[in-house]
Order: sequence, then structure tokens, then C-alpha cells
Amino acid sequence: MALAFDEYGRPFIILKEQEQKTRLSGLEAQKGNISAGRAVSRILRTSLGPKGMDKMLQSPDGDVTITNDGATILEQMDVDNQIAKLMVELSRSQDYEIGDGTTGVVVMAGALLEQAERLLERGIHPIRIAEGYEMASRIAVEHLERIAQKFDFGPTNIEPLVQTCMTTLSSKIVNRCKRALAEISVKAVLSVADLERKDVNLDLIKVEGKVGGKLEDTELIYGITVDKDMSHPQMPKQIEDAKIAILTCPFEPPKPKTKHKVDIDTVEKFQTLRQQEQKYFDDMVQKCKDVGATLVICQWGFDDEANHLLMHQNLPAVRWVGGVELELIAIATGGRIVPRFQELTPEKLGRVGLVREKSFGTTKDKMLYIEHCANSRAVTIFIRGGNKMMMEETKRSIHDALCVARNLIRNNFIVYGGGAAEISCSIAVEAAADKYPGVEQYAIRAFADALDAVPVALAENSGLQPIETLSAVKSQQIKENNPHFGIDCNDVGTNDMCEQNVFETLIGKQQQILLATQVVKMILKIDDVISPSDY
Ligand code: ADP
Repeated sequence: MALAFDEYGRPFIILKEQEQKTRLSGLEAQKGNISAGRAVSRILRTSLGPKGMDKMLQSPDGDVTITNDGATILEQMDVDNQIAKLMVELSRSQDYEIGDGTTGVVVMAGALLEQAERLLERGIHPIRIAEGYEMASRIAVEHLERIAQKFDFGPTNIEPLVQTCMTTLSSKIVNRCKRALAEISVKAVLSVADLERKDVNLDLIKVEGKVGGKLEDTELIYGITVDKDMSHPQMPKQIEDAKIAILTCPFEPPKPKTKHKVDIDTVEKFQTLRQQEQKYFDDMVQKCKDVGATLVICQWGFDDEANHLLMHQNLPAVRWVGGVELELIAIATGGRIVPRFQELTPEKLGRVGLVREKSFGTTKDKMLYIEHCANSRAVTIFIRGGNKMMMEETKRSIHDALCVARNLIRNNFIVYGGGAAEISCSIAVEAAADKYPGVEQYAIRAFADALDAVPVALAENSGLQPIETLSAVKSQQIKENNPHFGIDCNDVGTNDMCEQNVFETLIGKQQQILLATQVVKMILKIDDVISPSDY
């Protein structure tokens, strides 16, 4: 390392490359990168499929996460290597675009890398491999379109959607309740979907949870939930057709802005003061009642006296509701947030079909459900689970199911799961390879072999003989010319994924192949890795 000065006298440091940096180039760089990518993919491989294993991850502050979701596993792993980070990004992009298939995409990329390594050893130039992979991925994506099946569903016929969501959930920890959770997810998506424009705004679906209860108690609420209760235990627990006053002003007499002294030396004076205070409360409550409010939601607290009065006047109230929640309530109910009692008018009240307070188990925990809101189609999926880890994993699984339902509304084509689509693509790509005269045909064939990695991993994870199972299913597909045959992971007794109702979305599968190819091409094209050495 040497210090030098430029023509303006500014100092700069010259690093002697070999001294301060480690550098890998050529084949060595490619092989190093490939093995880093494969290492990440190996970790996820055992998590693929309905019989896949779960991973337990501990964060630096001791939080434990148990999950089966590829994107989450990678997100929480503290990877240092740059290529490994690319794989993490890969899984994340699949998560952003599609939401499901995050494990599969990494497994596929790992298999492509493994095949590429073999080709490199045989002396094929990385660019030719990259080009061959590109051609093969195009063949596979087009082939998927050919074997995809359109399926019809409607608001009254949700069964196909439920079945596809169940495939997604069947490989998660929550698969015990997959039917119920799939139904909840589909209903949630349909209630916020715009079927005409084929659009779904997932932001309208809130996924909340509270530890306790059973997974089976998870429910869909057509509205929003607020983690608060009525301010007085004797207030009604259920209000139908509620008109809500949403207030940011406190239920208390105004306080003087500067310091004042009040001398009270007689009983009369005290009583007058008290009466005046009471009148203030009375007026406020009366004002709310006059405009027709049947429920008051207040950002501030109010003292016991006001609370008592509200209860006597039959005006249920909720206090200490946070600003964010208040806004949410205002948007959902079409009400306005009112900062002063004088400004309260009937038009500013929010309207909802039902407000109910729900208590949980033997705890004091209570929540308010605000359902059938006037202005919003927003829904809430309220998850119950034995512990926090379970609840968090259910949230992630529901996210996948919601994404699958949304994808199907955008594009209602499906392919068959359980590796069936990959095997069919593999056969098609293999057949197409012969048509290419150049060196690329080796890469195309290698791509076909890499596609087999998903069914092989599924078989392996289910305790089946991987190679035997794969060859049996493949020959069955070729013999019967039917792309529905996949790996019978659950030992149902049939390989026909159509009969088993194991579906995946076409766009999800296509995206997996495209993304995996893209990343592998990128890794192959790197022939020089310069990184600072540890000193
Ligand atoms: P990802 O995160 O990629 O979705 P999963 O662990 O959810 O990974 O596994 C998905 C794979 O499992 C897909 O290839 C899917 O086709 C397959 N799969 C899911 N359910 C079944 C089933 N019942 N039988 C066979 N394969 C299944």
C-alpha cells in the first residue's frame, strides 16, 4: 500500500492488487461461484415438497423462527458470499413477483449450476453454456404453455381455486388445516378482487394474529380488527348498524392554558365547580347522541366519571385507539376524524354493519371486530395458533396461498405439480436438443437433466428411491403421452396429479424457470472475482 498525491495535491492510496485483494479468475472463479450457489441450493433442497423438512433459524437476538418457506429461510440466513446473496435475491424476486415457489426456484438454479460445472470441466465455454440454457429455458416456457390447462372458477364455484391453494399449503407446517386455510384465503382474495379487470389488491387483506387458541380457530373477518375493548365492562358487546363518532378530542373539561389558581373555600363553590364539570361531560355526551352516534371511538382516554356517564347514557365507547387505527377505521367506515365536539355532524359519522367485542379464552384479552364496513372491501384474516412461531409460519403460508389465488385470478392457467410439469418440460427440452447442431446442444441437454432435479428432490424428501421413481414416472409420461404424472409424495397410490388435485399456477412455474436461468447465466458470465482480503 502506498500513499500518493494527485496533481491537485489530494492524497490517494494505491493498493497493490495481489497484496490487498484476493482474486479468482477464469475457470477457478466460475467453479468457486458455482459451488457457493450450490451450497445455498443444497440447504433448501430438503425443504421442498409436502414431505420437506423445516428449518429452525435463530436470529442474533435469540428469536427463533421455524419455517419451510424458501424465501424466509434465505432471508434469515446470514450469508456472506456474494454469489450466495444472488441466490437469496433470486428467491426474493420469486416471492415478490409470484409469492410461491421460492424453494423450487433455488433448487432449480442449484441443479443448473451443477450441470454447468460438468460442462465446464468438459471444456465447454461458459458463454456457450449460458446461450444453451437460454434457448432451453425458452423451449421449456413455451412447452409449459402448451401443457397448461385453463380452468374456470367463479364467485360461486371456488373449488378449483381452493384446490390450488391447498397444493401450496400442503408443503407447509400448517398442512393439517390446509382445507380451512385455503378456503379462507380464496374467500379473502375473492372479496377484494376485481374479477372484471382481473386485478387483486392484496393490501386490502390484512393478516393479523393473536397467540392462543387453535389453528382451526383462524377466521376471516369481513372488516377490520382493533386490539381494544369497550371502555366499560357493562357496555353492550355487540352493536348492529353502528354509527361511529371518531374523535381526537378528549372527554374532559378544557384545561386552562396557563397556570391558574382556584380558591375553593366553601362547599357551595366546590359543588358549583363539580356541577360545571359534569355539565361539560353531559354536553359532550349529548352532542354525540344528538348527531346520532351509537358508538364513540376516541384517541384519548377519559376518566371514570365520563366513562360512567357514557355507560348510563347508553353510549358505548372505546378509548386509547392509536392514530393509525383511527385512520383505518375512518377510511373503512367512511367517517371523518373529528378534532372538536363542536364540529361533530351526522355526515361525519362512520357507518358499519356490526361492531362486536370478542374475548379470548380465560384471558382478559379482548378485541373489537368492525365488520361489514360501508366504504371498504377490506378483510382481515385473523390467525390463532399455539405459539408465536406457529402463528408467524401460518402468516407466511397464508401469504403464499393468497398469492396463488391472486395469480389464478390474473391468469387462470394451471400446470400439474409434484414435478409433473418439470418432467414434461425435461422430455420436451431433451427432444429439442437434437435439433441444435452446435455445442449448445450439450447445454440444452444439461438443462433437461437439471429440470429433473425438482422431481428427484421431491422423491428423495418423501423417502422414495429418487432415480427409480423418476425414471418410472418419466417413462409413464412418454408412454401415455400425458403430462399429468408426477411424484406421489404422499403415497396416495396414484401418480396422476390431476386425480390428486396437485396444481400449480402456470405463471409461477414459468417465472421459476426464467428466473433460475437468468441467475445461472449471470453467475456463469463472471470470470473474475476481486474481493478485499481480510486484514
Ligand atoms: P415452494 O416454496 O417452492 O413452493 P414447497 O416446499 O412449497 O416449495 O414445495 C412445492 C413443491 O411441492 C411443488 O413442486 C409442488 O408441486 C409439490 N407438491 C405440493 N403438494 C404436493 C403433493 N400433494 N404431491 C406431490 N407434490 C406436491
